[in-house]
Amino acid sequence: MRIARFSIDGNVAFGIVEGEPSDPDGPVLDIIKGHPFAEFERSGRKVPLAQVRLLPPVLPSKVVAVGRNYAEHAAEMGGEVPGVPITFFKPSTSVTGPGDPIPYPSFSQEVHHEAELAVVIGRMCREVPRERVQDVILGYTCANDVTARDVQRTEEQWARAKGFDGSCPLGPWVETELDPADLGIMCTVNGEQRQLGRTGEMVRSVADLITHITEAMTLLPGDVVLTGTPAGVGPLSVGDEVAVTIEGIGTLTNKVIKRG
Ligand code: MG
Repeated sequence: MRIARFSIDGNVAFGIVEGEPSDPDGPVLDIIKGHPFAEFERSGRKVPLAQVRLLPPVLPSKVVAVGRNYAEHAAEMGGEVPGVPITFFKPSTSVTGPGDPIPYPSFSQEVHHEAELAVVIGRMCREVPRERVQDVILGYTCANDVTARDVQRTEEQWARAKGFDGSCPLGPWVETELDPADLGIMCTVNGEQRQLGRTGEMVRSVADLITHITEAMTLLPGDVVLTGTPAGVGPLSVGDEVAVTIEGIGTLTNKVIKRG
């Protein structure tokens, strides 16, 4: 099931995405009563996807991200896979939705794309053992861990390098029935392929990462875990259209704009 969050008539709602972009009339949204973090019902009211504005599929209290979780990417960054996963936060204000602009930060001259599988947490949890990880996951979406690479090199903590406004595009929706073990993951810039990998190349699995993170902190419904990026990261310029596609989920597209 694909669950999208969107605005319609000035209101925000969740809906189940039915159909494919290739369908003659395109996909429709079956608006749900309530929200996807509890039991919900379909309202039966349907609207064409093309007539709504998709929003970030969740509003996380925090995004916990993992660095260097693909060996080839660790190598291109000039390092090894760390013995303990590198974790960092992206603030709630970094989150932006499908189709939203990524404002190029004024304090950087080198902004990179990082295509990542995002895990969306479905219920409050802490100290989750590996065998219970499935129970706390609502589903998966596409993410772009947009990074000011020059600032990441010069500042020890990455709050600015990876936390600026618009640096965490999420979407287009949450896919709830998906095995994350080995999915194709791709990033294109202006239609040209930049990153291509498989989630099966992750050093630590989704279950490993959720266990590791929840040893330290409580995750809340709607919180998001970014699982690292495959090799091929590279620069973005103002005017570029960057797209993250993950097999079984869909494509998250954003345009880089000059910050106003
Ligand atoms: Mg990353």
